[in-house]
Amino acid sequence: MEFTTIKGFKDILPEDVETWQRLESEARRVFHSFGFKEIRPPLLERTELFSRGIGQETDIVSKEMYTLKDSKGRGLTLRPEATASVVRAYVQHRLYLKNPIQKLFTIGPMFRHERPQKGRFRQFHQINAEIFGDPGSRSDADIIIMAMFFLETIGLSGLGLHINSLGCHKCRDSFKKELKEYLIQKIHALCLDCQRRTETNPLRVFDCKVDTCKETVSGAPSILDYICEDCQEHFESVQSYLESSGIPFVLNHKLVRGLDYYTRTTFEIQTDRLGAQNAVTGGGRYDGLVKLLGGPDHPGTGFAMGIERLVALLDEDAEQEVRTPDLFVAALGDTAEKKAFNWVNDLRRTGIWVETEYSSKGLKAQMKRAGRLGARKVLIVGEDELASGKGILRDMEKKVQEEVELQNIVNNLKGILKESTG
Ligand code: ATP
Ligand code: MG
Repeated sequence: MEFTTIKGFKDILPEDVETWQRLESEARRVFHSFGFKEIRPPLLERTELFSRGIGQETDIVSKEMYTLKDSKGRGLTLRPEATASVVRAYVQHRLYLKNPIQKLFTIGPMFRHERPQKGRFRQFHQINAEIFGDPGSRSDADIIIMAMFFLETIGLSGLGLHINSLGCHKCRDSFKKELKEYLIQKIHALCLDCQRRTETNPLRVFDCKVDTCKETVSGAPSILDYICEDCQEHFESVQSYLESSGIPFVLNHKLVRGLDYYTRTTFEIQTDRLGAQNAVTGGGRYDGLVKLLGGPDHPGTGFAMGIERLVALLDEDAEQEVRTPDLFVAALGDTAEKKAFNWVNDLRRTGIWVETEYSSKGLKAQMKRAGRLGARKVLIVGEDELASGKGILRDMEKKVQEEVELQNIVNNLKGILKESTG
């Protein structure tokens, strides 16, 4: 039997890992300068954390969670998103006591049992950032500006920022009533899920991917006509901060996002280059969530970015730069092999990438391997070289060779290689 990855799960292979590492380290660098600290919650949590935090009527909770039972029969779920876990940690460790404004980020895998397709996997990865403790518009603007700045830093510009306000629980209810009346009139044009959502959570209909539902909601009333004065002011202030930072955006009154906990500002960063899976980042304000999950009534705002989609965009853009070894050591004969073994490891300790053979091979085979690896230089040492005290150093690109003193060879090579790397 041959084992392969299960549907919707994939290996990130060595040739791709460099891009992933670059994204992760850039995220850490950029977020650090915005004052964010990393947190790493576990991947498995109590099911209720998500069903309560994300909302029963969402796709995630109603059909996408990987849930199992512990030995006492309690539900455990592989996290489908990070915010609920970060909130749990914020509450459990009373992080707010240390600092009334907590800025946290986390990077890692999420699990959702959805139909795998381009840009949509069952295990995927997100970069998440959250600000707790500030109800104002400036923290919303901050989180959006940080997301946009990060994307620009990694080489993705020209992405579309869509923003909306979902109002607060007060004004949203009056909008929900209005929307429900509108949807009831068009109920037969809606898919079965949306017919149910019309009753349970009409806002969710905006998030439906079925074409007829999309068409139906295109004529729906706009939440922006219903939000209360406070929410209006908050939203206008977010917009003015974005404007003054030179960040263009589109007002999109149909943007509701897939989770129930959002209030006021919501946003999505979209691309037109990945087909149907066009969202690379989603986020917004979630003022009731900390309290809902058993904590104090603290506001929050944040985003989640899908790493696979960022990688796909970067792959389209750029020729990957392939790293190759600085040196290959071709040793011939017992004595040379033993000496070379130590030289190789001494050089590696100085940060130089050195390759060599594990088993005894002829010169031709070793040169072939060095060529295949793309080594920049090859050091050739056999019995004759040991006797004369001079090895041969071949430049694979220029196809020329010179002699190097074997006495103090590690230092000699260090000097030569560092020089030629510039
Ligand atoms: P979508 O509408 O594409 O399903 P979503 O609203 O479910 O997105 P969020 O829960 O807000 O997405 O997650 C934030 C980001 O995570 C998305 O913008 C996307 O880039 C990424 N993402 C979400 N689900 C997947 C998935 N199944 N596979 C890969 N990336 C995903
Ligand atoms: Mg989704």
